[in-house]
Amino acid sequence: MENCLFCKIIQGQIPSTKVYEDESVLAFRDIAPQAPIHILVIPKSHYDSVRQVSNPDVLGTLMIKAAEIAQAEGLDSKGYRLVCNTGQDGGQTVDHLHIHLLGGRVMTWPPG
Ligand code: 5GP
Ligand code: ZN
Repeated sequence: MENCLFCKIIQGQIPSTKVYEDESVLAFRDIAPQAPIHILVIPKSHYDSVRQVSNPDVLGTLMIKAAEIAQAEGLDSKGYRLVCNTGQDGGQTVDHLHIHLLGGRVMTWPPG
């Protein structure tokens, strides 16, 4: 996708602090962290949001990788939150599917 911010990060046209990369997934630190650890886990293939995904492998891989990264970041014992903002009411601001991994502090509920 030509004008997609996260596709540009995948292609290296925009710098990011990468924490994990393989053939199908990239994870990098959020530029405006909302918790001591705030990582975005994204598929290298472009999907506007979760609404465009029909292949369960895409979502399964993202969630499993997010959990592996959380473990690598030392979050397993205390826990963490995985978030997938979707569309306008969901608060999505970048239209490339992503999972937020948030940890390092106690999360509140309900979310804002
Ligand atoms: P959304 O609001 O769509 O769920 O999440 C988009 C996230 O991308 C936000 O948390 C925002 O801080 C992050 N973000 C936006 N632009 C950049 C950028 O250029 N680099 C990085 N690392 N994160 C970004
Ligand atoms: Zn994209």
